This record gives sequence, structure tokens and C-alpha cells, in this order.
Amino acid sequence: MKISAAVLRGPDDLYNIEQLELPEPGAGQILVRIVASGFCHTDSVPRNAPAGAGFMPMITGHEGAGVVERVGADVSSIGAGDHVILSYDSCGECPRCRDDQPFFCDQFMALNIVGLDQHNCSATDDAGDSVRTRWFGQSSFATYALANVRNATVVDKDLPLETLCPLGCGIQTGAGTVANIFGLVPGQSLLVFGTGGVGMAAIMMARALGAETIIAVDIKQGRLDTARECGATHTVLAGTEDVEAIVAAAAPSGVDFSFDTTGRPAILLQALNCIRQGGICAQVGGAEDFVIPTAALNGKMLTRVIEGNAVPQKFIPQLIGLWKDGLLPLERIIKTFPLADINAAEQASADGSVIKPVIVPTQA
Ligand SMILES: [Zn+2]
Ligand SMILES: [Zn+2]
Repeated sequence: MKISAAVLRGPDDLYNIEQLELPEPGAGQILVRIVASGFCHTDSVPRNAPAGAGFMPMITGHEGAGVVERVGADVSSIGAGDHVILSYDSCGECPRCRDDQPFFCDQFMALNIVGLDQHNCSATDDAGDSVRTRWFGQSSFATYALANVRNATVVDKDLPLETLCPLGCGIQTGAGTVANIFGLVPGQSLLVFGTGGVGMAAIMMARALGAETIIAVDIKQGRLDTARECGATHTVLAGTEDVEAIVAAAAPSGVDFSFDTTGRPAILLQALNCIRQGGICAQVGGAEDFVIPTAALNGKMLTRVIEGNAVPQKFIPQLIGLWKDGLLPLERIIKTFPLADINAAEQASADGSVIKPVIVPTQA
């Protein structure tokens, strides 16, 4: 079928809106009419990855949500008309998938980052050339996308998909880090560096779980104001205020947990230094390798987060419950853009002027 999609053709190219031919859903696949798809920093990874140019042309977008149009012949658990929120893909067959830990799937990189699937299914442009259409098993910056049963979560039809589509990656990652990796309980403390979508979701979840102290650090005062509305009890304007002094005053022996969403080595070290003995420091994003002084790890745990250790079909319904209770105020961080304005959305995501841009293909 004919679709309109935002195609990335080279590392430094703008997205180009093109008409492509998308194949019919194959085994295990569903065809989804995309209602909305959030812009996540990871969508810019193909631009920067050393092999990035080799992945293109590709349609990105991996926080898609929409309405199922048709399903593959063997699909029975999802049907036409179902509303779905899409997430990361997994193989379903490796030991980690069989152990209900699809976020640790052996095939994670191949199924999510490369933009192809095991059948090399792809879209076709006017010249007859293929365009990769399996980014995170969805490539949802398009009017329609092929997804798999495994990376789709069926949700109630009365839910606003423009608001809830980021549950599939950024929000799940931030909230899942706090709930699933830290296992935060009432009275504990959290320090978050960077109040983008992931950091803000961590703050919202920490408040929902009863954290007593939630310290948000950012370089933008406007985002810190939003962080307060979302649950931060303390804010630190980096570059102007002293993070370690404010943490020492709020939690003299260190915070229980810290979360670096900036991906910067110096910040990660600061995040490690600010937790107490026995605390956990988590990091997401960033690709720069560096050496951590061993003393900084004394009695502490450090992990790099993948999708917040969340199983989408279980965690997304929990997050929807929190949203209904007013504990996940995503409306405060979202701004919608039409597909034609996707380059402005990427810019707004990169410069931080919009915390969570959401592409709405039908928006004029
Ligand atoms: Zn697997
Ligand atoms: Zn993402």
C-alpha cells in the first residue's frame, strides 16, 4: 500500500517526506495506521552511529501508536480496529526472552537499531529502491507502519494516543528505571541529571512511588520549573548552582539513587559520587567511552539502562493507570507537530525547547 513517510537518506540530511510502497503484513505482523509517534533522541542515532550511513535510507520513529488496519495470516491475538501502543521489538526465542526479559533480548540490536527484520522486509521508493522500515520493529514516522505482535500493546479505544504514544520508549525507560531497576520505595531519594522525556518520567514515577526527596538538575530553568510541577522537591540549575552542595544538604550521606540521562562522562561521575554506599546509579544515552576511577564505585552499583527493564505489555498498562490517576502528567511535556514539520520536531528535541515532540501524521 502507498504510505507517506519521513525518510532519512544520509547522516546530515533533513528528513524528506516521501510516498513509498509498504508491503502487506507478513507472519506475526500487523499493519498500523499511525495516529501519533513521539520523537526520542535515539531517533537521531542513525545519523551518528559509525555505520549509520549504511543503515540508510531508513524511516525512523519508535514511539508509535495507532489503529490496527490489517493483520498477517497467522495473527489471532490482535485484530483490525484494535488500538495499539508500539514499543521495542524482541525475538521471543532467546533465553532472555523466554525468561520474560525481552529488554535483554540477544537480538535487540539487530531487531531495533539496524532497521531490518529477519525477512529483510522494507518499503520501496519511486525509483524501486528499498527503504528500511523495521526501526525498533515499527518505523512509525509515517502514515502507516508494520509492527509485530510482540512489540504491540493493545489499549482501550478511548485513550488519547497523541498523549500516550511516548509510553512505548522514553516514558517507559525513565519510569521503568525508577520502578524496575531502582525498586524505589516510599521515603527514598532520587537525583536526576537532565529533565528531558526520560528524566521527567523518572521524576513522575519517583513521586508516584512516594519518594521523599527528588532532585532535578538541568541547564534550563524552564525545564526545572516543569520538573517541580512533575514532582521534583529540589532543583539545581547546572553551571550556576552547586549540585554536590545541594545534594549534601538534602541527603547528607548521599541519595539512594541517581540517574544520568545526559550521557556525559563528567556528569556520570558526579551522579556516582552523589549516591550513598549501597546505592544505584543508572545511565541512559551517550556513547562516549571513558574510564571510571575504581574508588568512585566503592560499595555502589552502576548500570546502563535498556528500556527501563520494562516488558511493554505489562508495564504500559500500569503506566496508563498512573496517567489516569494524574500521576503521569504527560500533557505538560508534549507538543504535537505534523509529519511535514518533522525536521522542526527533531530540532526542538535536540535543543531541548520541547521536552517531548510528538509527530501526528494527520495533523495539517
Ligand atoms: Zn530474544
Ligand atoms: Zn527511544
